Amino acid sequence: MMEIYRPKRRHTRTVYIGQVPVGGGHPVSVQSMTNTDTRDIEATVAQIKRLEEAGCEIIRVAVPDTEAAKKLGKIKKRIGLPLVADIHFDYRLALIAMDEGVDGLRINPGNIGDRCRVEEVVKKAVDYKIPIRIGVNAGSLKKELLEKYGGATPEAMVESAAHHVKILEELGFYDIIISLKASDVMRTVRAYQLASERFPYPLHLGVTEAGSPGAGTVKSAIGIGGLLLQGIGDTIRVSLTGDPVEEVKVGWQILKSLNLRQRGVEIISCPTCGRCEINLEDILRQVEERTIAIKKPLKIAVMGCVVNGPGEAREADLGIAGGRGMGLIFKNGQVVKKVSEDRLVEEFLKELDQMENIVDGGNE
Ligand code: SF4
Repeated sequence: MMEIYRPKRRHTRTVYIGQVPVGGGHPVSVQSMTNTDTRDIEATVAQIKRLEEAGCEIIRVAVPDTEAAKKLGKIKKRIGLPLVADIHFDYRLALIAMDEGVDGLRINPGNIGDRCRVEEVVKKAVDYKIPIRIGVNAGSLKKELLEKYGGATPEAMVESAAHHVKILEELGFYDIIISLKASDVMRTVRAYQLASERFPYPLHLGVTEAGSPGAGTVKSAIGIGGLLLQGIGDTIRVSLTGDPVEEVKVGWQILKSLNLRQRGVEIISCPTCGRCEINLEDILRQVEERTIAIKKPLKIAVMGCVVNGPGEAREADLGIAGGRGMGLIFKNGQVVKKVSEDRLVEEFLKELDQMENIVDGGNE
């Protein structure tokens, strides 16, 4: 049996967001944020359900006003995921959100104002056992810090986090998660490295405003993946412009690539070359559509030719390889069926159906 290599995780305090443990060596969780109007309960719940189906484990919603805050309880009742309220500045929204039953807050205590307001928020968070994420963003650092460090440097970001942390610690509050996001990868990575040396709290990783799914996926994979490789990070959020379901898929792909988590099907597909005589792109699309709901870890290979396909995909549980007018289906690198091209996908899917417990499998 080949050894499975995975990064050694840095130890932190464990903080619970609802039932999901974050930090303390618990599995790195995948989270996302809705882009619906939170006041629109139907649209928000529908999006959260799609995100949950895709593997999202913690969901955050923006809470821009009182109306949105008062909808949180109704949203919470209709979803299965821990719900985090994202609040800027207005401590009253945080109080309402907690009374509505949210499982976590993202709010920066240093931006709330008077100490008595912070105390009110913290007291309620303690009563309800709700953690607080301090979310430092390079784009919104205070003027004094920018002047002191000559810009939004990683050191400035960490000092900003330390300022918020101190406020909470002085009130005896330690259920803290920290994020330090910038839109450029290297600054983000450095900020998290510094934070991991300084704070005992779990870190929420993300490269903010990463961009379109193409560019943003690369930036997130390098930034988040690079930190996880160093053992840094306890929960991740990939930020992409567009459907947040893509964020969840990319998040899982990052974790799976590092052997940190396993979930669902991993599809290995060849890039095709001059030997390929079938429409591999179309076959891949059909296989992807059919396997999206499978939760059990399963490796599927979609290969262009019978010459090299099965051999190249030896570690796959199940595979398909094209040929001239026909194709092969193979299991664990061994060919088990030869069928005509027009029945190739159909026969492959039959084999897939026969594999035991494919839908009810584990999700670490
Ligand atoms: Fe080319 Fe066949 Fe390899 Fe695909 S599996 S890249 S078609 S040799």
